[in-house]
Amino acid sequence: MIVVMKAGCSQDEISHIATRIEDLGLKVHISQGVEHTVIGVLGKVFPELRDTLELLPGVDQVIPVSKPYKLASREFHPRDTIVQLNGLTIGGDEIVVMAGPCAIESEEQLLTTAQAVKAAGATILRGGAFKPRTSPYQFRGLGESGLKLLAEVGKETQMPTISEVMAPNNVDLVAKYVDILQIGARNMQNFILLDEVGKTKKPVLLKRGLSSNFQEWLLAAEYILAQGNEQVILCERGIRTFETYTRNTMDISAIPIIEKVSHLPIIADPSHATGKWYLVSPLALAAVAAGADGLLIEVHPNPDIALADGPQSLTFDNFRLLMSQIPTIAKARNRKLAIPSTMIKP
Ligand code: PEP
Ligand code: MN
Repeated sequence: MIVVMKAGCSQDEISHIATRIEDLGLKVHISQGVEHTVIGVLGKVFPELRDTLELLPGVDQVIPVSKPYKLASREFHPRDTIVQLNGLTIGGDEIVVMAGPCAIESEEQLLTTAQAVKAAGATILRGGAFKPRTSPYQFRGLGESGLKLLAEVGKETQMPTISEVMAPNNVDLVAKYVDILQIGARNMQNFILLDEVGKTKKPVLLKRGLSSNFQEWLLAAEYILAQGNEQVILCERGIRTFETYTRNTMDISAIPIIEKVSHLPIIADPSHATGKWYLVSPLALAAVAAGADGLLIEVHPNPDIALADGPQSLTFDNFRLLMSQIPTIAKARNRKLAIPSTMIKP
C-alpha cells in the first residue's frame, strides 16, 4: 500500500502518518519526490487501513500495491530510478556500456582491454576477481589481487569499475575496490548476500537467476532496496530453456517487461546469454532496440587463450564494430551512448 501525500504537506503530517503506521507493527519507507512525498507501507496490510489513512491530514490518496514486491514496483515509484555514478547516469537518457574481460588475468591483459574498450566508447570497466565457476578445477579468479588491479586500471583509465561479490563476508572487501557490486546469476537468491550489499552505499547490479521468473528476480531486488540501498540495476543475462545451441536463452522480453513493472534500470548481458561471440553483437543491438539502459559485454585481447569465457568474448575489433552500430539503434529509442569521462568537457 502506498500513501501519496498532498503537494506542500508538512513534515509533521508525514511523521504523524509514519508513526500511525509503525504503531500497527508495519514498516514505512518514505520517498520524498520533487512534487509529492510517497509513504510506502510494508508488511501485512489489511484493507480497512486504506480508509483510516485516507482520512488523515495531508493525505492525497492511498493506493493498494498488488505486487508482492513493493519497493521495486512501478506502482510504488512511478518515475524511473536513475543511478548516479561519478557523473554517469544509469537509467536516464544515455546507454551505458560496461565492458572488459570475464576474469582479470594480469595487469597487461586488463590495461590493454580497458584502453581498447574505453577508446571504443565503453564507460564502465568490468572484470571478475571472484569467479563462480561450474567446476572447481577451472580458473576461479585472482581474488583481492585482481581487485587491486581493477582499482588501479580503473583509476588510470578514469573508468568506474564493476566486479562480482560472491560471499556475504566479502562485501566490504569488494566494496573497498569497486564502484558497482555485481551479484551473479547463481547468487540471485543468496538472501544474506542481498542483505549485505543492501547495507552498502554502492550501486548493485543484480543479474537474473539461471531459472528465475520476474517475480523472484524483483523480490531479490526488494531485499537490497529494503535495506535502504536504492541503487539497484537489473541485468538480463539469459535463462535456462530446453535449447542447447546457446549457453542460455536471451529473454529480450525481460527488458520491456521490467520497464513496465519496475522503476529500476535494466541492462542486458548478451555475452552470458548466448555463450558465442558471434551472437553477442546482434543480441546487444536487439537489447538496445528493446529499450535496455545499458549493456555488459565481455571483451578479451585474445579470446582463444582467455582463462574464462573465451568463446563468448569479443576481440577489440569486434567490440569497436558493435560500438559503432549502437548509436543508430539507440536513436530510434531517443537514446544516445554515454560519453567516456575524459571526453566530457569540463
Ligand atoms: C560474469 O559476469 O562473469 C558472470 C559469471 O555472469 P553470470 O552470473 O551472469 O553467469
Ligand atoms: Mn563470464
